[in-house]
Amino acid sequence: MRYGGNTTCIEVRIGDDIIILDAGTGLRALGQSLLKEFKHQPLNLTLLISHTHWDHIQGLPFFAPIYDARCRLRILGGEGARKGLVAALTGQMESTYFPVPFSKLPSNIEIEELREFNFAVGNTLVRAHRANHPGFCVGYRLFSPDGIVVFFPDTEPRAGGDDREMIEFIRDADVLILDSQYDRAEYLKHTGWGHGCVDDSVALALKAGVGKLCLFHHDSAHDDKKIDTFVKHARRLVAKRKAKLKVDAAREGMTIQLGVKS
Ligand SMILES: [Zn+2]
Ligand SMILES: [Zn+2]
Repeated sequence: MRYGGNTTCIEVRIGDDIIILDAGTGLRALGQSLLKEFKHQPLNLTLLISHTHWDHIQGLPFFAPIYDARCRLRILGGEGARKGLVAALTGQMESTYFPVPFSKLPSNIEIEELREFNFAVGNTLVRAHRANHPGFCVGYRLFSPDGIVVFFPDTEPRAGGDDREMIEFIRDADVLILDSQYDRAEYLKHTGWGHGCVDDSVALALKAGVGKLCLFHHDSAHDDKKIDTFVKHARRLVAKRKAKLKVDAAREGMTIQLGVKS
């Protein structure tokens, strides 16, 4: 009820650039709000896809701007496990699943597979890094003039705690949005599923000198109370270490402004 039930979708605004991170069911509401805000102005959007698991792409057919002929949408992502990215994204609009085929969309949509792990979106430099998650999955690091955002929606800490590359990738992020689906006991029952737990997320964020950690990828079986206990537990871990890391659980509609003291 408070944290929200939609799947992964984050909007990032840097100057005039609008960057969307993942196309989960939250994309539907984002489409509505963008159309309301920009009314008659054509939208120019970039969508970065972490991976093509269902909870990260299923909002796309319900994203109203793709039915607007003036909308430009550039989609970038990994190869989509065994199928190509194009097949993974457009396949869900075939008649078995959806009434409007992708080929009939009036908007200008470009789908590009990631060839380079360093690239630019408008004026924003972006770096990608492989996640430890089944199939092909990446996280993104966005360099804005006001700070660094790292988005790692689905990833599991490496067995044996060898996360050196990951720590370097998230180093000094102002905001880290990180998979923290389980508590420790739940995690031990789900190792190898590609998701992390709160204790490991806090440890990783502390090692990397992160400013704010947003616990992310909530389990659909967890209610608000359970997620509240995650936040409390995480803050206790930080306090024990006398560290400055801020921790919150991501909530639907939550806004974080970089460069502003909170
Ligand atoms: Zn996944
Ligand atoms: Zn997921």
